[in-house]
Amino acid sequence: MHILDIPREKLEEYFIGIGEKKFKALQVFEWLYEKKEWSSDNFSNLKKEVRDKLKDDFVFSKIEIVKKEEDELTKKYLFKLEDNNHVEAVLMYHDYGRSVCISSQVGCNMGCKFCESGRLKKVRNLNTFEMVLQIMMIEEDIKERISSVVIMGIGEPLDNYDNVINFIKIINDAKGLAIGARHITLSTCGLVPKIYELANLPLQINLAISLHAPNDEIRNQVMPVNKVYNISQLMTAISDYIAQTNRRVTIEYVMLKEVNDSKEHATMLANLLRGLNVYVNLIPYNETNNIVFKKSDKSTILAFYDELKKQKINVTIRKEFGSKISAACGQLRSKEVKR
Ligand code: SAH
Repeated sequence: MHILDIPREKLEEYFIGIGEKKFKALQVFEWLYEKKEWSSDNFSNLKKEVRDKLKDDFVFSKIEIVKKEEDELTKKYLFKLEDNNHVEAVLMYHDYGRSVCISSQVGCNMGCKFCESGRLKKVRNLNTFEMVLQIMMIEEDIKERISSVVIMGIGEPLDNYDNVINFIKIINDAKGLAIGARHITLSTCGLVPKIYELANLPLQINLAISLHAPNDEIRNQVMPVNKVYNISQLMTAISDYIAQTNRRVTIEYVMLKEVNDSKEHATMLANLLRGLNVYVNLIPYNETNNIVFKKSDKSTILAFYDELKKQKINVTIRKEFGSKISAACGQLRSKEVKR
């Protein structure tokens, strides 16, 4: 097992299991996440016997950055994993700090018709350490701290539930990467049973739902997951989540030209969301060469926005990052796989 796979409470159990004091877990966390020391030989406040045992029991490897593309506000990283699979992460400079969008799987099985990641099927889940390392390698590269994380890269995080939850625990731990729960956002295409599970965890993270359609007819066409969990089941899960957690949920809505972007669609969406503690994030579609969908015109997006406002729905338009550097979900990996 990799040392970065393990949340602190599990590492405490490990130390107790080998007859050591549990605070050693805290010391190991300080070495890894605070001092960025990768060799257990240098964990100088642990005795040699314990250092050797750690080396026997855990892997301490990194992942390799094989490519970087950047523009003024965005830096895109392609990582090579130990089994030669590739995943990508995107760093974005906001006025409030630096955020990273990380991948949770190699490929994705959800098959959303407009999404580049979905064209290439899932190869495997990422391990917790491979998600933690996307952040740590970027911090090492830019020599600055990451202040927020969105789980919106390649993959469906709730289809890799246990590893993603461990990842969130580690990055949220004050002795881990110390990223506040309110600065962590998980985005899902709507795996309903897992949304109920997530609602029961004591984590104050942000939940974002990729809705992308105002009715089942359109959603069935663009998101196959809707045939398993339809909009009505999804909306019930979202209200339950809000009731349980008291947190506002983000509704993501990617604007696809002549598919879901008319004023009538906006009205339908408003009716669907009325009364729920949510806000809508309208996403300008990032066009890719391999897919027929086109982005909605600016004026269409603005009209949709105005209609939602008029209907008293909270709404923002997502700032576009990295469209010049193929930062659309999955584009960099997809190029690499082709090669
Ligand atoms: N599987 C998760 C998270 C990864 S996708 C989910 O579905 O939410 C992150 C977001 O990017 C989703 O809202 C997804 O629908 C959207 N997306 C995918 N391809 C896109 C593209 N080319 N342009 C804009 N948004 C896209």
